[in-house]
Amino acid sequence: MEINFKCKKCGVIFDCDIGAVTLSDDYERPVFQNRIICPKCGQRSIEDVFLTELGQSQLTEATLDFEHDELIDSDSEDSFGHYQGECQGCDTFFPVDETGLCEQCAGKLERDLIRERQWDYSVMAYGAPTEKREELRKAVVDKYGEKLELILPFKDSKKTASLGKRKKRKSKKRNR
Ligand SMILES: [Zn+2]
Ligand SMILES: [Zn+2]
Repeated sequence: MEINFKCKKCGVIFDCDIGAVTLSDDYERPVFQNRIICPKCGQRSIEDVFLTELGQSQLTEATLDFEHDELIDSDSEDSFGHYQGECQGCDTFFPVDETGLCEQCAGKLERDLIRERQWDYSVMAYGAPTEKREELRKAVVDKYGEKLELILPFKDSKKTASLGKRKKRKSKKRNR
C-alpha cells in the first residue's frame, strides 16, 4: 500500500509503496514490508521521515484493519473446545471455556447470574435495560425454575441464614 511521507532531510512530500503493513510483536510500531525511499535522498528509515496527515490516516487505517482482523481471528471460532480440561462446575472432563466451565455449566452459571440479578456478570443481560433484564430473568425462571443450578446465593451466607425465611414477593405490574 502507498503511504504519504515527508522527508525530514529534504522536506519533500512523497508517496511510497511500503508493501504490506504489519505490527511489531508488541503491537507498538507498524512494520513495513518495503523500504521507504525518498525521491531525492533515497532510502530512509522510518525515523527519517514524518508521516503527513494523509499518511497518518492511511497508516491508521491499515493497522486498524490489521488489529481488527486479529481480533476476529481469535474470537470468531467457538470459544468452547479451545481448552481441554476438567469443568469447575461438574468435574467432568470436557472442553471448557476460559472460565473453566463446560458449555452446559456455563449455561447454568449464566442462568444463575440472571436469577441472582448479577446483571454485570451475565453475558446476556450485561448492558441491557432493567426492564429487559427482568424479562430475561422471568424467562429463565419460567423455563428452568427459580432454584440456583450451579452457584451459591450471592448474598452473604450469614444474612441468608438469619433472614432465611424472608422471601420477596413482588407482584409488580410491568408498565410498557
Ligand atoms: Zn529526502
Ligand atoms: Zn460442567
